[in-house]
Amino acid sequence: LFDTDPPPWELAAQEDIAVASVVFSDAPHGPYDYRIPDAMREHLQPGMRVHVPLARRKRPTVGWCIETKQGSSHNRSLSDVAEILDDEPLCDPPLVRLVTWMSHYYQSPAGQVFDTLIPSSVRTNAGTRETTYLSPAPSTDDETVVAALPAKQQRVLRLLIAAARPMTSSQLQIHAECTAAPVNTLRKKGLLRETVRREMTSGSSTRWQIDDGEKNQTHDLTEDQTNALQKITAALDTGKAATLLLHGVTGSGKTEVYIKAIEHVVKFGRAAIVLVPEISLTPQTRGRFERRFPSVAVLHSQMTPAERHFQWQRIRSGEVQVVVGPRSAVFAPLPRLGLIIIDEEHDGSFKQDSQPRYHARKVAFARAQSLGIPLLLGSATPSLESWHATRTGHAEMISMPNRVGNRPMPDVQLVDLRLKEDRGRRGAISRQLHLAVTEVLNEKGQVILLLNRRGFATTIQCPACGHVVACPDCDMPLTHHRDGSKAVCHYCDYTIATPPWCPACKFDGIRYSGLGTQRLEEEVKARFPGARIARMDSDTMRRPGSHQKVLSAFRSGELDLLLGTQMIAKGLDFPNVLLVGVINADGALHFPDFRAAERTFQLVTQVAGRTGRGNRGGRVIVQTFSPEHMAIQAASRHDYYQFAEAEMINRAKFNYPPLGSVARIIIRGAIEEVTEATAESLVGRLEAAKQSLGADVRILGPAPPPIVKLRGKYRFHILLQALDPRKLGDTIRTATKTFKIPEKDDVQYVIDIDPVDM
Ligand code: ADP
Ligand code: ZN
Repeated sequence: LFDTDPPPWELAAQEDIAVASVVFSDAPHGPYDYRIPDAMREHLQPGMRVHVPLARRKRPTVGWCIETKQGSSHNRSLSDVAEILDDEPLCDPPLVRLVTWMSHYYQSPAGQVFDTLIPSSVRTNAGTRETTYLSPAPSTDDETVVAALPAKQQRVLRLLIAAARPMTSSQLQIHAECTAAPVNTLRKKGLLRETVRREMTSGSSTRWQIDDGEKNQTHDLTEDQTNALQKITAALDTGKAATLLLHGVTGSGKTEVYIKAIEHVVKFGRAAIVLVPEISLTPQTRGRFERRFPSVAVLHSQMTPAERHFQWQRIRSGEVQVVVGPRSAVFAPLPRLGLIIIDEEHDGSFKQDSQPRYHARKVAFARAQSLGIPLLLGSATPSLESWHATRTGHAEMISMPNRVGNRPMPDVQLVDLRLKEDRGRRGAISRQLHLAVTEVLNEKGQVILLLNRRGFATTIQCPACGHVVACPDCDMPLTHHRDGSKAVCHYCDYTIATPPWCPACKFDGIRYSGLGTQRLEEEVKARFPGARIARMDSDTMRRPGSHQKVLSAFRSGELDLLLGTQMIAKGLDFPNVLLVGVINADGALHFPDFRAAERTFQLVTQVAGRTGRGNRGGRVIVQTFSPEHMAIQAASRHDYYQFAEAEMINRAKFNYPPLGSVARIIIRGAIEEVTEATAESLVGRLEAAKQSLGADVRILGPAPPPIVKLRGKYRFHILLQALDPRKLGDTIRTATKTFKIPEKDDVQYVIDIDPVDM
C-alpha cells in the first residue's frame, strides 16, 4: 500500500502549486497537468496556448490551457509550462466549456476542437504586424536625470513626456524633427520604455460588390410573420434557453422574420448569429442582412486569412451586431450573444466532414443552452430531428403555412418514367417537360432544371417497373460493384451476384448507371437551340465569384435556363422562373442511406419552391420512376406533415434517428487485407465493450462504403446504432481507448458521431 501511495510530504508539497490542465490536437487523451511557474501565475488563463514538454518529444509542443487550479490529482512531479503563447485568451470560458463538450461528444482531441474553433488566421496573427511603442522610462521622473542630457536628446525626451502617449520611433522623429540617432541613444541609455503591440495592417476587408437588384425595403409583416415574430420575441424576453422551429413554406418570408427578431435582440445591446448554407450560393440572403444592419460580419470560404482575422477581431470587440456565415460561424466569439438562427436547418452542409465531425445544429443547441438564449431553426422542410423535437416537447413549432401575398404554391405534375411514351425516345427529357420548356421560353419566362447526380454509387433499378434491388436486412438499396458484378449492402455487407433481370417483374435489361449534368447540358442545347443556358455544379463553379456571376445574369434576364445539381435548389428568389423541372427525382431516393427519402422530399420541395414567386405563377414537372413513393407524393402536394408522419414509421422499424442514434467508424488503409483485418478486430473490441457495459447497441459491418477505394486508400465502415446516444458513445470510447494499430500497418480510423451522408 505504501509503495504506490505518495509519501505525505509530497502530497503537501503539491497541494499549493498552481497547475494548468492542457490539451493537444494530436493526443486524444488528457487533459495533462503542468506546473505553472510563479512568474506566469498572474498571466495564464484558460483559452490561451502554451508551450509544454510532451512525452519524449524533443521540442516543446503547443497545447491549449483549459483550466488553471491548485494542486494536482497526479502524484508524480509535474513538468513546467515552458511559455505562454497568447497575450489574451482566444476563447472565453463558455467557449472553453463548449470545446470540452464537443471533444467528449464527438470523440475528438480537445486541441483539435480548439483548432476548429479558432481560425488558423487568428492563431497565426494573419494580416498583423508588431509595432514597438516608446514611452519615458520611470527613471526620467527624476528631473536631474533629464537635465543632465545633451540638448538634442533632452528636447526629444521632453517632447515625449509632454505628449503623454506612447509613440513609435518614427512618430517621435517627425514630432521632434530629428533623426533616429538621439532616439536610439536614449533607448540605449535605458531612458525609454519599449512596449510591443500587435496591430492589423489592413484596416478593412474588401466587401463584395453586391447588386442583386433588390432595394432596401422593409415590409409590413404578413399575418403568419406577425404570429411567428410574436412567439420568437416572447422566447427572447424570458431570458431562458429555448429551441424554436420555424416551419415556413418556400416563399413565406422567413428571412424577414429573422431580421425582425434580430432587431429585437440588437435593441437590447445584444448580437445574433445567422448560419446559412454555403454563403456563395445565397448572395441574396447576405444582401438582405447587410442592408438592414449597420454592422454585419459576413464569413465565407473565399476570405483571405487577413480578412478572416480582421472580422474575427471585429466580432470579438463587440462592435458587430450580426454574424452571417456557414457552419463554422457557430463559433463566432460575440461577447453578448443573444440569439442563434439556423436558416435551412435541414441542410447537409451544417455537418463537417472532417475531424471534428460536428453538426452545427447540435453545437448551436449546446451553445444556446449554456448561455440561456434561444435557438431558432428555420426551414420549409425541417429535418426529422427537429420535427421530432417539437413532438417530444424539446422544441416549439412555429408555422407559416402561407406564401407572402397569398401566392399559391406551384402546381406539381409527376411524369412516370416507367411508361415508354412518357420517357421519351431518347435522352433525359420527357415529352411533357420538353413541351413545357418550349412554352415557357416562348413566353419569355425562365426555367430551372435540376439533376442531382451525387456520389459514385450506382443503384440497380428496373427501367420497366421501377423496382430497386434492396437488402433484406437493412432495407437499403444494394450497390452494384463493377468488379465482380456484385450487389452489396453498404450497411451490413450483405452480398449477392447482381441479378441480370428484375427480381420483381423479370424484365431483362436491368440498369445501373445514372446520367450527369454534363450530358444533360448537351441534350438541352440540342433540344432548345435558341435558349441561353448556364450549368451550375461543382465542376463549373470552381472559381470564386462564379455563383454570383451566373445568378446575377439569371436575375437580370441574360439567361433563360439554369440547370444544375442541388446548388440551384437553395434559397433563390427569382420571380420570373415559371417552370422547374426535376430530371430524375429517384437519384437521391435509392441511395444507400436511411435519410434517402427525407433528402428526396427536401430536394423536390425546395426546388419546386423556386417557382411561383412572382405574379405570373409557376409550375413544376417531376420526372420519376417511383411516382407512388411517399416522399415524391408528399412533395408534389407540398405536404411536409404527411411526409414526416409516414417517414417516422420507417425510421421506427430499425430505430434510425431521430428515434435512436447512429455512429460510424471509417477505417482507411493502403492494403486491403490489413485494413479489413483491422476493421474486424475493432468490431471485436466494440462487441466486447458492448458486453461489458451491458449496452444495447447494434454493430454492423465492416462493410465497404459506396466508394471503396478513395485516394489510393481502401476504406471500410462500421455502423453502430442504439436508442441511447450515451450508450453508443460509451461503447466506442471504451473500445477505442486502448485500441492501438501498429504503425507498420498504415491504417487510420475516424469516428463519426451522427453521420449525415452514409
Ligand atoms: P423564404 O425564405 O421563406 O422562402 P423569402 O424570405 O425569400 O422566403 O421571402 C420571399 C420574398 O417575399 C422575398 O422577395 C421577400 O423580400 C418578400 N417578402 C417577405 N416578407 C414580405 C412581406 N411581409 N411583404 C411583402 N413581401 C415580403
Ligand atoms: Zn444490409
